Amino acid sequence: MKLRGNVRNIRWAVQIASLVFFILIATAGLCVVTMGSFRVDCVFGVLQGVFAQPVWVLVLPLLIFVALPVIGTLILGRAFCGWLCPVGTVLDAFSRIPRVNFIKMLGNPLNKFVVAPAFLIGSFFLKYPSFCTVCPIKGICYSAGLSGVIKPAELALLAVPIGIELGEKRAWCRYLCPVGATLAFLSLKKFLGFKVDTEKCLAGSHAQVCRFCSKACPTNAITESSYKTGEISRTECIACGQCYDKCPTGALKFDKLPLAVHARSN
Ligand code: SF4
Ligand code: SF4
Repeated sequence: MKLRGNVRNIRWAVQIASLVFFILIATAGLCVVTMGSFRVDCVFGVLQGVFAQPVWVLVLPLLIFVALPVIGTLILGRAFCGWLCPVGTVLDAFSRIPRVNFIKMLGNPLNKFVVAPAFLIGSFFLKYPSFCTVCPIKGICYSAGLSGVIKPAELALLAVPIGIELGEKRAWCRYLCPVGATLAFLSLKKFLGFKVDTEKCLAGSHAQVCRFCSKACPTNAITESSYKTGEISRTECIACGQCYDKCPTGALKFDKLPLAVHARSN
């Protein structure tokens, strides 16, 4: 099967399989892995744990389950957000709804880098992982199981992500999600990712044309500077491949990225 033009379909298949897996089969599996009396949370859950109970530092060797998302993000950036996160999948189901423009005040991608430390500080003072009590990923993972019983209180944790989705695509992922912020921070040093081949790109030589890629991008990761430097925001790109599908000249490539992070690629 030809890849270009079909990434969207492949991604939907992976997202739905992941959603079903985490809701029905591995209930809570995305949030917590228990080993005897030890509990290992998701990557942001562990960060909160370190702040809530500094003794966690002593069990760092047990954090092998954190190593997987950390290494995965260092290689592929925020691919988790684009391909596996059950909240992202639910939000993508709303991708074609008409938007109401109320998000302007909220709309700064740096907000998530304030929200994440705020919850870490909260965990320190409250002595428990404070974000986990409102985490919509946890809400989905705990919302049902093979028993088929739906838990409305857990599903209700999706209210904020879905509510602000009415304003902008992936607004939760772009502006507020502390898990996304943690992965975005790691993505600064990611090894692979999408970039623009400025030789092939029409926008570079014909300033007013094309830009199908930035119109398709749900996270605004492709900016005007991308057409000059070839760089796409490392922190905002979720590797969804929609730009790759839409580019008529094959200028979008998934490739090795330079080690040095360009200031405008953040
Ligand atoms: S869709 Fe392709 S050719 Fe068009 S602006 Fe984007 S990278 Fe350039
Ligand atoms: S730059 Fe491309 S792969 Fe990255 S989020 Fe935007 S559309 Fe998806």
